Amino acid sequence: MQLKNRTALVTGSTSGIGLGIARAFAREGANVILNGFGDAAEIEKLRSGIESEFGVKVRYDGADMSRSDAIEAMMGKALAEFGSIDVLVNNAGIQHVAPIEEFPLAKWDAIIAINLSAAFHTIRLALPAMKARTFGRVINVASAHALVASPFKSAYVAAKHGIAGLTKTVALEGAEHGVTANAICPGYVLTPLVEKQIPDTAKARGISEAAVVRDVLLAAQPTKQFVTVDQVAALAVYLASEAAGSTTGTIIPIDGGWTAH
Ligand code: NAD
Repeated sequence: MQLKNRTALVTGSTSGIGLGIARAFAREGANVILNGFGDAAEIEKLRSGIESEFGVKVRYDGADMSRSDAIEAMMGKALAEFGSIDVLVNNAGIQHVAPIEEFPLAKWDAIIAINLSAAFHTIRLALPAMKARTFGRVINVASAHALVASPFKSAYVAAKHGIAGLTKTVALEGAEHGVTANAICPGYVLTPLVEKQIPDTAKARGISEAAVVRDVLLAAQPTKQFVTVDQVAALAVYLASEAAGSTTGTIIPIDGGWTAH
């Protein structure tokens, strides 16, 4: 139980990678605050299911990560209940695939807000209590797109490169206060976020959906396999642990060799 008596907040944890990380943290004994969108009854089932399976406190906050006022309210509530958010995972993210000249302005703004600015807001609000307790773990779920680009993903690639820079800055500011900050950079993981972009990529490139999976997504990954949610969650558990106290400011690929090219 590496995270007993810790409190973890995972943004965007009603689905995909965030949900996997939240479950893995609960398994390690952490109290967890879930966040994200979805059907209220299904989210309640998830929340109570994790709580009873692992015997930890699990809360849910539906704050919209595109709004700084909603983030402030969520963080205030979590800090009031738990005193500190020991492990903060900035994971909520969206994607839009289109050539730059056709990229919808509202999509650009939403991607920068949710995939980048939200992390600035959660971090600035979590840091005081982390520093006061001389323990904190900031884990940003970035992407291989924090290190390399792909066509038609301008906003996403810009936001993910931005979060790599934010991660390094937080690492430097937290270094003498027991606060680490690291970015996890997955390659393709078959979650709803990826499933949704397959038809759009097919359209943008004029190829079939099967060809997108074979020739676009997995073409980038030398292993020719999707990264799994459990693999990403295991790395997050390590980064949250005591053992990772000297690991800070790192941008860690978990991408089947993609960025080795
Ligand atoms: P997903 O679509 O399964 O989950 C995204 C989560 O974010 C959901 O819980 C959703 O409700 C939440 N969310 C979306 N907009 C939100 C908002 N405005 N406010 C609050 N929550 C919001 O996607 P995923 O694949 O699990 O992606 C999670 C993170 O991992 C993202 O940051 C993504 O960029 C990153 N990532 C994913 C992959 C991949 O291949 N799936 C690869 C690299 C990085």
